[in-house]
Formats: sequence, structure tokens, C-alpha cells
Amino acid sequence: MNNKKVILISVDGMRPDGFLNCKNAYIEQIMEKAYYTLDGKTILPSVTLPCHMSLFHSTTPERHGITTNIYLPMARPINGLFEQLKNAGKVCAMYYGWEPLRDVSRPGSLKFAEYINAYTEESADTSLTDSALARIRKSKPDFVFLYMVDTDEKGGHENGWMTDGYLKRISIAVDNIRRVIEECGDEYTVVITADHGGHDRTHGTDLPEDTTIPMFYIGEDFEAGKRFTGGSILDIIPTIAKIMDVLPADEWEGTSVI
Ligand SMILES: [Zn+2]
Repeated sequence: MNNKKVILISVDGMRPDGFLNCKNAYIEQIMEKAYYTLDGKTILPSVTLPCHMSLFHSTTPERHGITTNIYLPMARPINGLFEQLKNAGKVCAMYYGWEPLRDVSRPGSLKFAEYINAYTEESADTSLTDSALARIRKSKPDFVFLYMVDTDEKGGHENGWMTDGYLKRISIAVDNIRRVIEECGDEYTVVITADHGGHDRTHGTDLPEDTTIPMFYIGEDFEAGKRFTGGSILDIIPTIAKIMDVLPADEWEGTSVI
């Protein structure tokens, strides 16, 4: 085990071409700093809670059993990233703007958490970033999960994927990512991904627009400015466990990219 720290940012519904077309100049710097893919794959159904359960447990819905946005406890529970980190003595924090996401960790795994209701806050993503940065300054948690939802709900669902209204929300998310990298990039590896994409005003299908996601790894363990092809959402937490030198759970199906 080492003392490396990681921040994982999930930008809900961020298509790779949404990222590329959001007209935020900082995307160039993200690609210069990152080992990254623009054609990674999420799981089916391409829906928020199933995708995040797969992200945090490195298993498909066939194994974790969550196929809708309603959480059900697993019949045969497996440890996700939060549980493995907690068992290794690591301090974890989570900032999220959509309440059902609380179930991606089991009770007792988090030391710090903040939920902001995105439906009643103009920019929950910005407020959550403020909160996460304040906690990082104060406590330096080993692992921080920052979840941004405005891109999906107020971007894609309200306006349609790839519309100006959607791209504007992506640009705000990139502004928040910039703040995280500029303030924490020396001390933390920063991993950025999305749970799924979208088309028209919806997602959940097996269309490439819904299932293709970007992944960016920024830190000393990665070759900066190098793009790779493919990759699965299931690979993200095995990679984070490898960075932090924490054992993966036996059930995890993904493969570390390092
Ligand atoms: Zn989502």
C-alpha cells in the first residue's frame, strides 16, 4: 500500500463528442495531461444507477442485479471500491447531486459525504465542487468521488443531447474539472468519466450515442497526452485500486489499464 490519492469525477451523460464540442478551451489541456479514450464503453442498460453500480463494483448488472434507477440490496453482496478502500484504512468522501446514488457505497464506508438536491439548486455541480475542494483542503481524504448531474438532467433531458443547452452544461462541468485539477492535480491523480451518453432527450438504449463514454486518467502513473482506444467502465476501479495499491475484490471483472 502507498499514500497515493485519487479523485474520481463522473459527469452524468457526457458523450465524448459533447466533451469535444463544448467550446471550453480547457478540454485541450485535459487531453494534453491525460491518458485517455474517447470511445470507451459503458454497460447496458445505459441508465444512471446501473452504470454507477457497475462503475463502483466492476461487474455487469447480471452480477450486481441493479437494472433500473431503484436500488435493491444484492443477494450475494460484493465489495465495491469504497468497501475495499475502507478495509485498507483509507478515508473516502463523496459529493453527489442525485440522491439514489448514495447506494453505490455501503453504510460505514464513507467518512465524508454531501448531497445537494440538484433539482432545487441552479448549479449543483458547482456547489458540490466547492464542497469537495473545501473538504480536500481541510482533510485530504485518500479518495474523493465527485458526481455531477446537471449535464444529464438540466442538459440532455431538458434540452436534448448535443444541443447548445446540453453543451453549456458540459462546459460548466469542465470549468469545475479545471478547478479540481489546478488545485489538486499535484497531490491527487484525477480520473474523469461519464456513466453513459444520450440521444434526443433520453438514454438507456444500446445505441452508440448512449453507450460510448470518455475516460481520462491524469497523474504520475499515466503517459500524458496519449490516447487509447476502447476500454470499459468496468476497468476504472481496478485501475484506481492499482494506483492506490489496494487489493481488488475477487468478483471484479474489469482490468486495470496500468
Ligand atoms: Zn446518468
